[in-house]
Amino acid sequence: MYGFKGKILVVDPGRKDTKILEKGEPFYRKYMGGALLAAALYEELIDRLEAVDPLGPENPIIFATGPLAGGNVCGATRVNILSMAPESTGLYLSQAGGEFGPALKRAGFDALVITGKSDVPVVVDINNGQVRFSEAGDLWGMDRVEARKRLIAARGNDYSIASIGPAGENLVRYANLMFEPEHYAGRGGFGAVLGSKLIKAVAVRGDQEIVFKDPGTVQSVNRKGGSGFSQSIKKNPHSFMGVLRHLGTYGLLELNRKSGNLPTRNFNFGCPDESADLKHYHHETARAEVVGRITPCKNCFVACKKQSKANPGHSSLAEYESIAILGPNIGLEQDLETCLAACELCNRLGLDTISTGNMIAWLMDCFESGALDKDTTGYDIRFGDGQKVLELIQNIAFRKNDLGNLLADGIGQAINRLGSQTKFQSRFVNGVGMPAHMPRKKPGIGFAYLHGPNPNDHMKLEHDWIASDPGSLKSFNLTVHSAPDALDAAKIDVAKATQIYYAAMDSLSLCMFIFGPGNIYSFDDIVDMVNAAIGLKLSFADLMEIGERAVQLQRTLYVRLGGEDSEFLPYMAQEIPKGPSAGSKMSQADFDHARKHYYAVMGWDEKGRPKAETLERLGVEPYNG
Ligand code: SF4
Repeated sequence: MYGFKGKILVVDPGRKDTKILEKGEPFYRKYMGGALLAAALYEELIDRLEAVDPLGPENPIIFATGPLAGGNVCGATRVNILSMAPESTGLYLSQAGGEFGPALKRAGFDALVITGKSDVPVVVDINNGQVRFSEAGDLWGMDRVEARKRLIAARGNDYSIASIGPAGENLVRYANLMFEPEHYAGRGGFGAVLGSKLIKAVAVRGDQEIVFKDPGTVQSVNRKGGSGFSQSIKKNPHSFMGVLRHLGTYGLLELNRKSGNLPTRNFNFGCPDESADLKHYHHETARAEVVGRITPCKNCFVACKKQSKANPGHSSLAEYESIAILGPNIGLEQDLETCLAACELCNRLGLDTISTGNMIAWLMDCFESGALDKDTTGYDIRFGDGQKVLELIQNIAFRKNDLGNLLADGIGQAINRLGSQTKFQSRFVNGVGMPAHMPRKKPGIGFAYLHGPNPNDHMKLEHDWIASDPGSLKSFNLTVHSAPDALDAAKIDVAKATQIYYAAMDSLSLCMFIFGPGNIYSFDDIVDMVNAAIGLKLSFADLMEIGERAVQLQRTLYVRLGGEDSEFLPYMAQEIPKGPSAGSKMSQADFDHARKHYYAVMGWDEKGRPKAETLERLGVEPYNG
């Protein structure tokens, strides 16, 4: 087989047992890799279970690569991780860059499954197909960056390491996974899944060759993308891709501030007040004082990852999402130093920056609005109180004191304990914190936030601007278009097409900054590259069918395991009061129509369950209990 190893490694640290599942070409033709492969394996492994405890030994966590991984292709380094989510109500899919995916492939596997539970904290080593379990010892409890240094010192630089911090060990519901020191699978709470299995880290290396059918074509398309990208950013350094190259996602702070899409003070505003001193957002200042040298995923010519010039001791410069949610969204818009310190602290302790920031913003908004007061809680925190932010992060990660322990269990528990008057201030959806794009400014994205299997995920479909760009829509054979601020049937049709496209790219384990529609490669380029790698003759329609199968299979599992779509959040019906996005809102009526249309075009019944005929068309088994 070209592009695939044909082997899935299954590891059980409790039984100190490993097994290898062998798969043939028809399996890969159907399930490809990444998101879809992970969902197919999850379904196979949980067999007939109707409920899975995310923190129970029966919950497998799956790390899946794609067919181009390890082949020196720009943007093909992603690893997809799928499991029942401690943070949410069902299955979740998270991704990270770095070398873990390619290293797993070089070790001889297309995916890694971890199931069961160890008796003592362990590190799992995978070296060219050999698996070893060793006691974690004093690594357990250690900050992740320090733990990684120790692990690398003992093994060598050619290991790629996935690890958890104290938050994962303490089963904080939104603990994340770190890959290398600068890549994170942030969403879903998968740090707590590894923590529940008493696994501190998984270290992988391998030397096996990745064999493509036509490596010359793979590389010529790859090089063509690289030279096209260089020319385009020379011509337009201020384009979205130019900003990513020169400033990383940090540069998006200024772009989103200008358009009123920068969550500020618990998403109540779309940008900081005009009087705020935001010179560090300006691109010239950012370049001079904040953004350091590039630390790209291997072979990537966009290189969105940067070091921190202002804080060379930090593991990396925090991403836009982290800075926005732990910056302006908690009132630290003028205090970049504390904001970056909060991001670094989350990274070291193993907390998802987005959900942690949402939790703090919710608490601050509750005190500011009077939903909570110091007399009844004995505690008080207001927007902009950086010192208390740093304390709270520690308290959550280590479950110190009553409040830290409560917040570590997620927003649902916190609202139950502190009272339903605090519900309006929550920006969580099914337990997951909201990413840094204003749903009232981008109602298509806001609509997607409220739907499973990945609630509150901004990386599962194109953002609203594409819905008003006839050129982009033509490539999806869509003739409709919808205004950027509308939530109508046309917007949902675009959402469906791009959700399927994104799922196809996730099933190839490709980076969306590189493989997003129109970013670097044409659809024909992608088809040529994939076929040259795996030696099949797939069309673009075949890739879209793989994407649709991924969407429908994940949705089927999500619903089967108890996941539901969220109700409309009442705050979304309030107009953004000022700034460039002033007046933007979503209405409950538009939302209700959109949901009805969405279920219909997705081939789901009135409860949002995929219909038998939808699944049959895609060769997905319906689940009948
Ligand atoms: S664009 Fe960024 S995340 Fe994507 S492959 Fe390149 S460095 Fe990695």
